[in-house]
Amino acid sequence: MTNIISNRLEGRSAVITGGASGIGLATARRLAAEGAHVVIADIDPASGERAAAEVGGIFVRVDVTNEEEVKNLYQVTFDTYGSVDIAFNNAGISPADDASILETGIDAWRRVQDVNLTSVYYCCKYALPFMQRQGKGSIINTASFVAVMGAATSQISYSASKGGVLAMSRELGVEFARQGIRVNALCPGPVNTPLLKELFAKDPEKAARRLVHIPLGRFAEPEELAAAVAFLASDDSSFMTANTFLVDGGISGAYVTPQ
Ligand code: NAD
Repeated sequence: MTNIISNRLEGRSAVITGGASGIGLATARRLAAEGAHVVIADIDPASGERAAAEVGGIFVRVDVTNEEEVKNLYQVTFDTYGSVDIAFNNAGISPADDASILETGIDAWRRVQDVNLTSVYYCCKYALPFMQRQGKGSIINTASFVAVMGAATSQISYSASKGGVLAMSRELGVEFARQGIRVNALCPGPVNTPLLKELFAKDPEKAARRLVHIPLGRFAEPEELAAAVAFLASDDSSFMTANTFLVDGGISGAYVTPQ
């Protein structure tokens, strides 16, 4: 994938929630390749252990909706590596029962808010004190392009949760800027994860309906998001905070797309 890998993250610790799969796993590989000590934080122990072994890091089983488990995650990171330098708050779900507001029940609404938004509140709340003591740190929260655009193919709680992640990241970026801590929101466009591939292989019309809106004419690969996270994690982005970092193939900038 990447021909030139630098060592710009040498010796830094990086906690990645949802690090066992998709964007999180690709990022674990990338950050480790750039010299970071990676902590895979995931609810799935089998794939989590596998990912940690692959990148030479550690696995911490955590349900990001559980405050005590999240608190423990950063303590374990600090106890193991002596610092909490990078927090990539990335775990998220998009279940089928979260759709149009007219058919989405309160249980689905709350589950998505808990996993996608409240989790980011916990992760930032408990990563920040370590970063304050160090006087430095980089937090990257995974929002989505749907935080800045509306979709007629609605996932109402998901979109609302990502809007919340974006607003929270902006505010934290401003609040902690003068303490050496940067907080940015990563807003991916649709990414070629196993779930998306399966869904769209079954239904090419569904895929086409989305692809037409993407100027680059394809979905992103997880490695392309990982490269963006590595940039935001590193000092190469030292003048960026409270940023809406769109990695979306041009979707959010498009009116009419190429044929
Ligand atoms: P994925 O399903 O491949 O991976 C998500 C990981 O999160 C899994 O390993 C899962 O076990 C873990 N997880 C789920 N619930 C958890 C919990 N309660 N506690 C701890 N871990 C938990 O997903 P992905 O496609 O890589 O998505 C990663 C992030 O990117 C999500 O926040 C998602 O909303 C966002 N995103 C994805 C896309 C896309 O097209 N794939 C687009 C925009 C934003």
